[in-house]
Amino acid sequence: MKTTALDILRDTYGYPAFRDSQAAIIDHVSTGGDCLVLMPTGGGKSLCYQIPSLLRPGAGVIVSPLIALMQDQVDALRQLGIRAAFLNSTLSLDDVRRVEALLHRGELDLLYVAPERLLQERTLALLDAVDVALFAIDEAHCVSRWGHDFRPEYLQLDILAQRYPGIPRLACTATADERTRQEILDNLHLRDGHLFISGFDRPNIRYTVVEKDQPRQQLLRFLRREHPGDAGIVYCLSRKKTEETAAYLNDQGIPALPYHAGLGGEVRRKHQERFLREDGLIMTATIAFGMGIDKPDVRFVAHLDLPKSLEAYYQETGRAGRDGLPANAWMCYGLQDVVLLRQMLAQSDADQMHLRREQQGLDTMLGYCEITTCRRQMLLGYFGDELPEPCGNCDTCLEPPETFDGTVPAQKMLSCAIRTGQRFGAQHLINVLRGSEGERIRQWNHDQLPTYGIGMEMSAREWRSVARQLVARGLFAVDPEGYGGLRVTDAARPVLRGDETLQLRRDLLAAKATPDRKARKRRAAALDALSADVAQLDGDTEALFDRLRAKRKELADQQGVPPYVIFHDKTLAAMAVHRPMTSEAMLKIGGVGESKLERYGEAFLGVIGESPIESD
Ligand code: ADP
Ligand code: ZN
Repeated sequence: MKTTALDILRDTYGYPAFRDSQAAIIDHVSTGGDCLVLMPTGGGKSLCYQIPSLLRPGAGVIVSPLIALMQDQVDALRQLGIRAAFLNSTLSLDDVRRVEALLHRGELDLLYVAPERLLQERTLALLDAVDVALFAIDEAHCVSRWGHDFRPEYLQLDILAQRYPGIPRLACTATADERTRQEILDNLHLRDGHLFISGFDRPNIRYTVVEKDQPRQQLLRFLRREHPGDAGIVYCLSRKKTEETAAYLNDQGIPALPYHAGLGGEVRRKHQERFLREDGLIMTATIAFGMGIDKPDVRFVAHLDLPKSLEAYYQETGRAGRDGLPANAWMCYGLQDVVLLRQMLAQSDADQMHLRREQQGLDTMLGYCEITTCRRQMLLGYFGDELPEPCGNCDTCLEPPETFDGTVPAQKMLSCAIRTGQRFGAQHLINVLRGSEGERIRQWNHDQLPTYGIGMEMSAREWRSVARQLVARGLFAVDPEGYGGLRVTDAARPVLRGDETLQLRRDLLAAKATPDRKARKRRAAALDALSADVAQLDGDTEALFDRLRAKRKELADQQGVPPYVIFHDKTLAAMAVHRPMTSEAMLKIGGVGESKLERYGEAFLGVIGESPIESD
C-alpha cells in the first residue's frame, strides 16, 4: 500500500491531523509544484517540506542561513527516525565526505545546507549526480535587499531554477511584506507564483505594554509573578544594557546570560547553546539574537526598550510560544524611549526616503503602544489580516484603559513649551507647570511666567504621561541635539486654538498587585487546555509533569541534545493528564510517533507507572 502524507504525519511525527494549509502545500509540492509559504512562527512550516521530501524519491535539500541550528534540527529529525544530515562550514573534511557518501548511496531523506556551501561547485556537482526530491529555501525573506536579514548569497539562489528546472522549489518565511514576497517569487523564479498564506495570528501570545517606571524592578516583578523557572528572552537596545540586565537578574537568583554582537563568536555560540539546552535560562539580548531560534518553549519575550518598528516587534515577540502553549510578550515603555528614538532618527544621515520609512515605522510603533483598543487587532490589521472581534488576550482587552479629555492639560503643556522658548525637556516643563522652586527655574526667571504653577492638579508622573503622549502623537517634536528639548509642531495648533479636542490614555500608574498564584494558574490552565475532560488540574498531575520533565532532561543530557528534541512540553503535559499505561495508549499522545515510542516509551511509561494517583 502506498504511504500517504497523513500516514507519515501519524506514524513518524505522532500528530493526528494537519493544520490549516499544510495538507494543500504538501500535496502541491509532492506533485512537483513550486510555491512560497507564508506562515507565522510555530505554524508548522517545516513539515511542508519534510513530508514531501519523504514522499518523493531522493533527498530534500533545505537551504538555511542558520548554521548554528542545523545540528539540533538534524538531531531532532533523527529522533523521529528520519535520515538527516547537514553540510556547512563547521564540518571537517572527513565529515563532509561522509555526508556526501550517504547522499550518493541514497541513504538520506533530508540534507540541510548553508547557502554559501550550496553555491560551491563541489556541492552543485554532487547534487547533479544524485536524486533531489525538492529544494526548500528557509527564511526566504533573506533575499530582500531592504530587509535587515539580507544575505547576499540568497540572490544567487536563482541558479537552482536554471540548473535544476524540474525539481520543485518551496520558499518559506514568517515575515514578508508585499514587496518582499514579490522579490522572493521573482528571484527564486517560483513557477506560477503560487502563494500560500496562513493568518499571522499567534493566539497563544498575550501582548502587554506597561508604562516604564523602574524598568528593572518591573521586569523582576513580571518574571517572579508570571514566569518562575521559565525560559525567555529580554530584548535591550544596547550591548551594555544586556550585560547589566543579565548581571542584575543573576544577582536576584534568576539565571540569565547576555548576547550581543560585541561578544566573541565562541561566547555567543556557547550562550546560545546553553539557552537551547538548559531549562529555564533567560537570554538578555540585542536584536543580534533571534533569527530562527527554534526553541519551542520560550515562554516570554520582554522588551526593555522600544523596537524600531512594528515588524521588528512582531518578529521578536513571535519567538515566544512556538509550541502553542500560553506565552507572554511584555514591553515596558516610557517617555525616554520616545525621546531617544526620535533623536536617533533626527541625527541619522540616511537619505530622505529611508528616513521617511523609519519615521513611519516609529510612528506606527508608538501608535501601538498608546492604543486603547485591542492590540492584536491593530497588529494583525497592520499585516493585512482582519480580526473581527477584540481578542480577549491582550492587556487592553483584559483591563481596558481609561481615557480622559486631555485637551486642557495638553494646552497647558504646549503653551508652557512656547513660553519657555521651545528648548527645554519634559522634566523642566513639568517643574514649571507644577510651580517647583528649582535652581534652573530661578535662573531662567521661569517663575515669572503665566504658566508657572498652573498644573498643580496633576502629579509629575501624570504630566510625564501627557508629555509622552504628545510626543508619540507628534504634537511635540524632539530637539535632535542636546537634552530632548520639546518643540511645538504644526499638528499641535488646532489643539492649542481649541479647534480640536484630545483624548488621552490614563496610565495605570501603580502597577497592579497580581497574586502570586497567577503563574501557577497559568501553567495549570495550559495543562488543562490539553484536555477538556480534565476539568480541574490537581497537584498530582503537575507533580507528574515535573517528574516527566526531569526524566526528559536526564535522557537529553545522556545524548547531548536539547530536551525538546526528545519531547515537547506539550507532549509531556498530555502524558501527565492522560497517564497512558500501555504503548498503544502512548501512541495516542500528540508528538509520540513510532520511533520515539521505541526509544523512550518504556522510560516514560515507567515514570507514569510509578506515580500513583492519590485518592482522598
Ligand atoms: P515553523 O517552522 O513554522 O516556525 P515548525 O515547523 O517548527 O514551525 O512547527 C512548530 C511546532 O508545531 C513543531 O513543534 C511541530 O512539530 C508542531 N507541528 C507542526 N505541524 C503540526 C501538526 N499538524 N500537528 C501538531 N503539531 C504540529
Ligand atoms: Zn485584545
